[in-house]
Amino acid sequence: MITIQNNDGDRKVLLLDSPFALDESPDFPEYLFDVIFIANNSPEETKTILSSINPITSTKCCYKPLFVSASLKGKMGNYNEIIDGYADDWNSMEVLTQIENIINYNTLIGLAATEDPILSSNQFFIRLTRYLISRKKTILEPKLDVSASTGYVIPVFDLFYRLGQYELSDYFVFMQSMTEKGLFRVSKFVNKIYLCPSCLHSHLLYIRTCPKCGQSSIQAEEVIHHFRCANVSPEHTYNFGGQLRCPKCHKVLQHIGLDYDRPSIIHTCSTCGNTFIEPKSKTLCTSCKKTFDADELIPQDFNIYEITSEGKQSIISPNIGFTIYTEFYDNYIEYNRLVSRIRLLAEQKFSGNIQGDLLVGKIWILDAEGITTSIRPEVIELVCQYFPNNKVSAANNITYVGSVIRNYKSGDTEEGIINFQVMLSETIRAALPVLNPGEKICYTYMKLQGNQSTIDDFIKEMGFISPTPDDSVENNDNK
Ligand SMILES: [Zn+2]
Ligand SMILES: [Zn+2]
Ligand SMILES: [Zn+2]
Repeated sequence: MITIQNNDGDRKVLLLDSPFALDESPDFPEYLFDVIFIANNSPEETKTILSSINPITSTKCCYKPLFVSASLKGKMGNYNEIIDGYADDWNSMEVLTQIENIINYNTLIGLAATEDPILSSNQFFIRLTRYLISRKKTILEPKLDVSASTGYVIPVFDLFYRLGQYELSDYFVFMQSMTEKGLFRVSKFVNKIYLCPSCLHSHLLYIRTCPKCGQSSIQAEEVIHHFRCANVSPEHTYNFGGQLRCPKCHKVLQHIGLDYDRPSIIHTCSTCGNTFIEPKSKTLCTSCKKTFDADELIPQDFNIYEITSEGKQSIISPNIGFTIYTEFYDNYIEYNRLVSRIRLLAEQKFSGNIQGDLLVGKIWILDAEGITTSIRPEVIELVCQYFPNNKVSAANNITYVGSVIRNYKSGDTEEGIINFQVMLSETIRAALPVLNPGEKICYTYMKLQGNQSTIDDFIKEMGFISPTPDDSVENNDNK
């Protein structure tokens, strides 16, 4: 059953009780109804209906008030986040008031009801944040959820993640870029956790392994130090028929602290017999099933975000100046991921597993006072276009390009490095139209040198621009 009826407030109510392909149906255009009422007493069926008919992803239902049966209260899980009320009487005073409040507020803030179909993660995020603004839910708070991809999730986001609306990497980029643009503000730090570098899930098993063979079947044992003869060996070597006796001088041990002590713990691998002091920590991702060293994990801050008043305005505006670069370019990655990738490549290079030079190009814009300006999406787009085979990222007011220059034939990488420089020079020239009068766009490139111990310094240096760029161009228009 699906019908449209007028309520006592003269609003048109779309009533339905079963799944229906509303967006595809020519019989129910968007302008024919103002409110949605789902009359079904099964939580599971109602969830199925809501996965397509909801005020966020349905083009016809955008931001419209939505009610479900009163009996479902407390049974809808995270779907509760997109339900305005639970009611059976759609003409009750309470429901009528709520409908008017939502519709009037949407009119007041100028939220247009007509929307295009969602084609990308970013379009979805904009639509969801518009919805949250419409419902005055401008605080985005992550909650712990044992069944959720990243452990901490904002329930309304996670609901749509599970419906396949976006990728986790897109989510982190969106949050970061909204914060950098000042549209979101971190109102409280919640926790820093470590995510799988491959799939960004948080459900990792912590494993301690043998540094030699990598297996985790290891036993911990105390080491005994016999003062009299200075013998130091694992406890089991002192065990003779239930007596602690020194394997070297054969004296029976008397009192701990007096003639012997237990200075440390030693581990023995049951697989290869290796003994060692410190096991190697590893993590096994329960989602993608890959194993990583503990220091390869990606640190990720979880925060309570607040949509700022500037954010509310720009998100609602139909031409939100949010150029959606990540949906077009596969080579754009989050800065955290670029850094862990560079670290990995650097380690590979120094251990001889890859040949060639590791380069990082940096592009930034200075204003007329010589101060760095915030990242422009147009510049990121250009860099993604000019370096389709490289990883591109942006943070710290800098746009980055990572590159490994290889030359298998002669081992000479000079030519590759020169080409990289030429491309960077071309890119900043192409970006000239993006600059305001008096602004200057610069680039420099870093080349990894030294050994294992210089990796950290190299990564630290990535965070800063160079006072002496390799090349720069200025917008001299004085309009
Ligand atoms: Zn072993
Ligand atoms: Zn001894
Ligand atoms: Zn994983």
